[in-house]
Amino acid sequence: MPSEFALIRDYLTGLGASRDDVLVDSGDDCALVQVPAGASLALTMDTLVAGVHFFADVDPYTLGHKALAVNLSDLAAMGAEPAWVTLALTLPNDDQSWLAAFAAGFANLANAHGVRLIGGDTTQGPLSITIQAHGLIPADQHPLCRHGAQPGDLIVVSGTLGDAALALRQLLAQQIPDPWLRQRLEQPTPRIALGQALRPLASAAIDLSDGLVSDLGHLLTASGCGAEINLARLPLSAAVAAEISTSNDWQLPLAGGDDYELCFTVPPEHAGRLESLAAQLGCQLTVIGTVDESKTLRGRDLDGELITLPGGYEHFVASGSQPGARCSTTTLV
Ligand code: ADP
Ligand code: MG
Repeated sequence: MPSEFALIRDYLTGLGASRDDVLVDSGDDCALVQVPAGASLALTMDTLVAGVHFFADVDPYTLGHKALAVNLSDLAAMGAEPAWVTLALTLPNDDQSWLAAFAAGFANLANAHGVRLIGGDTTQGPLSITIQAHGLIPADQHPLCRHGAQPGDLIVVSGTLGDAALALRQLLAQQIPDPWLRQRLEQPTPRIALGQALRPLASAAIDLSDGLVSDLGHLLTASGCGAEINLARLPLSAAVAAEISTSNDWQLPLAGGDDYELCFTVPPEHAGRLESLAAQLGCQLTVIGTVDESKTLRGRDLDGELITLPGGYEHFVASGSQPGARCSTTTLV
C-alpha cells in the first residue's frame, strides 16, 4: 500500500501549467509565489463533500474538473486571472486509479487556464475536496464586486440557466441525461475570459452557484437595490425549455444551482458593447431585467403578471438537514 507521501508524489505534484512566478513549488513547507507589483491577490475557497455536493460514485475525472471549476468560477466573478491553487484532499482509501483520474480531470482544466497546483494537504477520512484558488487583478484594473449595482443598470446572465439542475433531476429519477446536459452538471465551464472582459464594463457581478434568485439576491442586497426580472427573457437550453413547457415549473432556471454562469449588472451606457463581447467570446449574454430602487427582487411571468420567485439553495437552511440534501432537493427560502 503506497504511503501518503507516495500518493502525493505520484499523483498530486506538479499538476497544471508551469509558471515563472512560482518560486518554490509543492514539496516544501510552503509554496512561494511572486505577486506582481501593485496587483491585488484574489483568494477564494470552496469545499465539495461526497453525498452533499456530488454523488460519491461520480466519475473521478469529472470530479477533478468540477472541484477546480467551482473555484475558478469565483475568480471569474471577481474579474481575476487565475494563477495558483492549493488542494486539501480527504480520501477514504488509497484507490490509485481513482486518484489518477481525479488528478487528470483537475490537471486538464488547470492547464487550460494556466493554473498551477502549488501545494495542499492529504488526509484519510470521508471523501471531501477543498480548493483554495488564487487569482490576480492587475494594478490598473477594477475588481468586480457584488456591491456596485445602481438603479437603472441592466441585469445580464451568461449561457443558459437550469441545465445542471435538470441533469441532477434526471439522475435522481434514474434517467441518464444526454451528454451535453450531463456535462453542464459534472463539468461546468468557469467563465474566466468573460469575467476579465467585464472589469471595465460591469458595475457588479456574482457567479451562479446556488440559483439565479438566490445569487442575484446576494448581489442586490450588497448593492442596496432591488430589481425586476422577466421570465420570458431567461436564456434556456432546448432541454430546459421543453421541461418547462410540459410542467410550467420555473424552478429550474430560477432556483436550480450549479450552473456556474456569471450574473452581472451593466450601466445602460455600456449596454451596446454586450453584443460584440458575446460574439468575441462565443458566449451567450442575455439581459434578463433591470436594477431599481426598490429593496425587493420581483419577477414577471410570460403574461406580464408579477409572480413570487422561488429561492435557491442555502446551506443549513433547515435545522437537522441531512447530508445529501444538496443532491436530492432544492430547498426553498
Ligand atoms: P507538512 O507536514 O509540512 O504539512 P505535508 O506532508 O502535508 O507537509 O505535505 C508535503 C508536501 O506535499 C507539501 O509541500 C504539500 O504542499 C504537498 N501536498 C500535500 N498534499 C497535497 C495535495 N493534495 N496536493 C498538492 N500538494 C500536496
Ligand atoms: Mg512541513
